[in-house]
Amino acid sequence: MSVIYLDNNATTRVAPEVVEAMLPYFSERYGNASSMHSFGGMLGRDLAQARERMAELIGARPEEILFTSCGTESDSTAIMAALQSQPDKRHIVTTKVEHPAVLALCQFLEKTRGYDVTYLSVDEHGRLDMEELRLSLRRDTAIVSIMFANNETGTVFPIRQIAEIVQEHGTLMHTDAVQAVGKEAINLENLPVDYLALSGHKLHAPKGIGVLYVRKGARFRPFLRGGHQERSRRAGTENVPYIIGLGKAAEMAKNGMTADNATMRTLRDRLEQGLIAGIHDTKLNGDPEHRLPNTTNISFKFVEGEAILLHMDREGICASSGSACTSGSLEPSHVLRAMDVPFSFAHGSIRFSLSRYTTEADIQHTLKVMPPIIAELRAISPFRPE
Ligand code: PLP
Repeated sequence: MSVIYLDNNATTRVAPEVVEAMLPYFSERYGNASSMHSFGGMLGRDLAQARERMAELIGARPEEILFTSCGTESDSTAIMAALQSQPDKRHIVTTKVEHPAVLALCQFLEKTRGYDVTYLSVDEHGRLDMEELRLSLRRDTAIVSIMFANNETGTVFPIRQIAEIVQEHGTLMHTDAVQAVGKEAINLENLPVDYLALSGHKLHAPKGIGVLYVRKGARFRPFLRGGHQERSRRAGTENVPYIIGLGKAAEMAKNGMTADNATMRTLRDRLEQGLIAGIHDTKLNGDPEHRLPNTTNISFKFVEGEAILLHMDREGICASSGSACTSGSLEPSHVLRAMDVPFSFAHGSIRFSLSRYTTEADIQHTLKVMPPIIAELRAISPFRPE
């Protein structure tokens, strides 16, 4: 089935080069990297190379890279490590617009473990207030967890400035960089965060592999206990093929990011400007300036996002309304609610997210079919003003 895939913040296509790099590790190189025999043991070199490639992409040292099963596990591991290693500190700072991987954990800790959580607010463009952050920090703050870039709007937070404020206060800092790695230049040598989470399937590696960066010397407690893998920091037999795949994807991102970002930004801007100019009563959600180069989130007034998605689906176009995780419900997403997007706009919001595989023809076709879809839906909309 041929599709126009504009849902790359939900997941990305695995790069053919990544598939090719992984294949031998399902067949002839299937050993367990922890085995004593050389058949398994020889995989150690390949894993080390993948770790180095991953580290290079984000300016980390190989020994600071911990392979996990996904972004969610990496987020949980970071937050729990900070809490368990400082049992006397009972306060967490995060934002209202985090991915559920962070938000749901914080709500769980608040409701069932008695932690005090501050959820920082955002303005109508999804921006944080640095003064509110400063004022939120307390002597008993165990960790600040603030995402690098928002998955729904693409808004990029000033993470360096945030990390410096948190560092100055002497508090541990985690950033969920799942949407940023591979799209934003990240150099952890001069970014003072203690933990950073990323996920393979957002950068053209498979689903089911992630990384937690743990700065050398940062407090740590393993989340999964058992075996001695990952220097006793994350038990579980290494997922060798996926680690190799992620190493390849990281290498490709490092080499191709500048060119890919330029192309994505051009196509994204064409799509965004075309939709806003061609359809009345539309609104861009997110920071117009500080945004991932591949993401645009647009609201179409008086229409229902789910209905738009169904019509787009008939045209073979994949996108998301709100976020992939919230599109099962008709409530506007927590991100749009936090931004105070008016009700009549919030319901009709669509996230278009591009990748290096998005073509000019994809954008042309989308620009052609969207105006009639919106016009048709507005004609029957119960929200339409009389
Ligand atoms: N954090 C952000 C910002 C995300 O966008 C996602 C996935 O959509 C995750 C965390 C969870 O990552 P994973 O699907 O690898 O668990």
